[in-house]
Amino acid sequence: MGIFSKRKAEPRAEVAAGDAAEATPAAEPQGLFAKFRKGLHKTANLLKTDVRDLFKSEGRLIDDQYLDDLLGINIKTDMGYQAAEEIVDKVRTQMRGRVVSTEEVVESWKASLKELMAQDQAPIHFAETGPTVIMVCGVNGSGKTTSIAKLAYQLKLEGKSVVLGAADTFRAAAVEQLTIWAERLGVDIVTGAPGSHPASVAYRAVEQAIIKQVDVCIVDTAGRLQTQRNLMTELTKIQGSIRKQIPAAPHELLLVLDATTGQNGISQAAKFTEVVDCTGIILAKLDGTAKGGAVVAIRKQVGLPVKYIGIGEQPQDIALFVPDDFVDALFADMLSADTT
Ligand code: GDP
Ligand code: MG
Repeated sequence: MGIFSKRKAEPRAEVAAGDAAEATPAAEPQGLFAKFRKGLHKTANLLKTDVRDLFKSEGRLIDDQYLDDLLGINIKTDMGYQAAEEIVDKVRTQMRGRVVSTEEVVESWKASLKELMAQDQAPIHFAETGPTVIMVCGVNGSGKTTSIAKLAYQLKLEGKSVVLGAADTFRAAAVEQLTIWAERLGVDIVTGAPGSHPASVAYRAVEQAIIKQVDVCIVDTAGRLQTQRNLMTELTKIQGSIRKQIPAAPHELLLVLDATTGQNGISQAAKFTEVVDCTGIILAKLDGTAKGGAVVAIRKQVGLPVKYIGIGEQPQDIALFVPDDFVDALFADMLSADTT
């Protein structure tokens, strides 16, 4: 679990700015399913083993023991007790006392998961005129800066111009990290002197976006714990400084959560939404965990859409979150392996 926090990533050398030209947005929908599978492979593997154990013989009586086991499997993915119980309740109502096939149970399971995660399709909300401003917040190491690089890469693929605002001014290394990404991706960046006020950097980044007529301005912020009151207040100031220039901005205020910490993200979301107007979640590092069920917990308990998931450290390792495809990808290998 701690593997990601041990090392502060340097963007890899093979990430060339020219990469953006290779893929086309039109190729994206096809890649989405594959991306979900990549992000979910640890969770899917865990489920697969457990489901195989549950269905040792084809066709099984759905009794209380079975329902308990099914509950346990769901809880293991970190989706939370409530969601797991809803899934099992449905199987109980529909199938208890009957001998059913794996497929029947999995279909009911998938339908429940899709329902639990349902959300309006919510990609980036772009400004009708002028620059769109995206502000990014979250705790330290959750994946903010990397996610910003990924977003910038995606936006460039869509033909949009991007300027980054390095408003994480606390650590020189943070500014440096974002600067390296900007160079590699071929996008502009606004930085401040070390220790300068983050709100002033955010202000200048938006100012530059307006003056240079850049399509999207993405503002990075320093990681902060939801318990650090001063730092949380500072986040409000950054939001305020953006609004001074564009009252409707930030058009997106994305909270980055680390999927490897499972349901911890829920309390973070509660606190961050108390101080700033978060519009959605980026769930980073989904590839690094077997607790992919945390998405269910987040969707159920946090009133924010999950807009993107992060599935690796490279710029292309991001996917728009589409619950139905996500669930299909989770179970994609399970049945094929079961019926052979
Ligand atoms: P920040 O402190 O919130 O800005 O976090 P960073 O963007 O610097 O990321 C912290 C670490 O997590 C780095 O080592 C990143 O490469 C890594 N990371 C970020 N997103 C992902 C992801 O989606 N998958 C994986 N495997 N690693 C990630
Ligand atoms: Mg950072």
